[in-house]
Amino acid sequence: MFQGILITRDDAGYQARLQAIAETGLPDGDVTVRVDWSTLNYKDGLAITGKSPVVRRFPMVPGIDFAGVVTESRHPAWQAGDRVVLNGWGVGETHWGGLAQWARVRGDWLVRLPEVFGARQAMAIGTAGYTAMLCVLALEKHGLRPDDGEMLVTGASGGVGSVAIALLAKLGYRVVASTGRPAEADYLKALGASDVIDRNELAAPGKPLGKERWAGVVDAVGSHTLANACATTRYRGAVAACGLAQGMDFPASVAPFILRGVTLYGIDSVMAPLAVREEAWRRLGRDLDPTRLDAITREIGLGEAIAAAADLLNGKVRGRVVVDVNR
Ligand code: NDP
Repeated sequence: MFQGILITRDDAGYQARLQAIAETGLPDGDVTVRVDWSTLNYKDGLAITGKSPVVRRFPMVPGIDFAGVVTESRHPAWQAGDRVVLNGWGVGETHWGGLAQWARVRGDWLVRLPEVFGARQAMAIGTAGYTAMLCVLALEKHGLRPDDGEMLVTGASGGVGSVAIALLAKLGYRVVASTGRPAEADYLKALGASDVIDRNELAAPGKPLGKERWAGVVDAVGSHTLANACATTRYRGAVAACGLAQGMDFPASVAPFILRGVTLYGIDSVMAPLAVREEAWRRLGRDLDPTRLDAITREIGLGEAIAAAADLLNGKVRGRVVVDVNR
């Protein structure tokens, strides 16, 4: 038996509970992993609370990511003792996930943990931080460089936002953080933001085009915020859209794209090919100052993850939450 969070949906309703789970219940897969650390991402918040239909099979162990050690493998790439990290692939949605002491998955889904990170640090980064890196990579591949101008990061105090700020600042960009929590201005500046703006400046319906300001944008928020970010991006600038914290809608016009040559990149972490993941984790190892991780991370035990999930969705969590699955 092992400890894990199990989500059930039956006559008693939709419930997430910490409980003992039989090892025989682990799903099919060619690699078994002893999970050391997991984390809470926005999607885990949706899964645990049932606020959105993230979970598509029941019962389900939530947790879209984990870091741990391989204990058994029938996959040629992996051997017992290998340190691994997993993000996405429907884990925690259609396949049992990381908020438990054990996981069994397909070896093709695993990435080798970079030497520079321990398992706890990998989960302090988590899917939110890996997605922030995917956004930064998209903006770099677009050709943006620090002397092109300011970078806007929305949802700044959240997981994606916090890591994006730390990464962009380390790479030499001038970063403007958009937040609904002005009290977190010192936190955001300590991460590397040069300036902090109130998210209300971007959250309401805006004009098709505004004054050009951003060379690039990392947007974790969607909706009017994404539309306004596009409308205020400079000529031939780029916007990386990865999130929907404000909403899934995109009430925009084509003006920024056809009149200013702005490019909108869609960022998906879940099904990203292995080579892209490996590049993202390698770059995280190079470009993310591990000491920054301590500042953005709060640690909880598995039993606290259910309450923390609701806090996350209510915008009460700053930065990242790592989950010690052994307490
Ligand atoms: P968090 O909850 O940690 O952060 C989200 C932040 O968004 C909040 O901290 C808050 O920042 C801001 N926010 C919350 N509600 C609103 C609102 N109504 N209007 C405007 N801003 C709001 O989540 P994550 O950082 O983990 O994830 C961010 C988004 O990215 C989520 O939508 C998530 O689903 C998505 N995501 C997508 C991935 C992909 O593969 N595309 C992978 C990972 C995440 P502040 O208080 O500073 O304003």
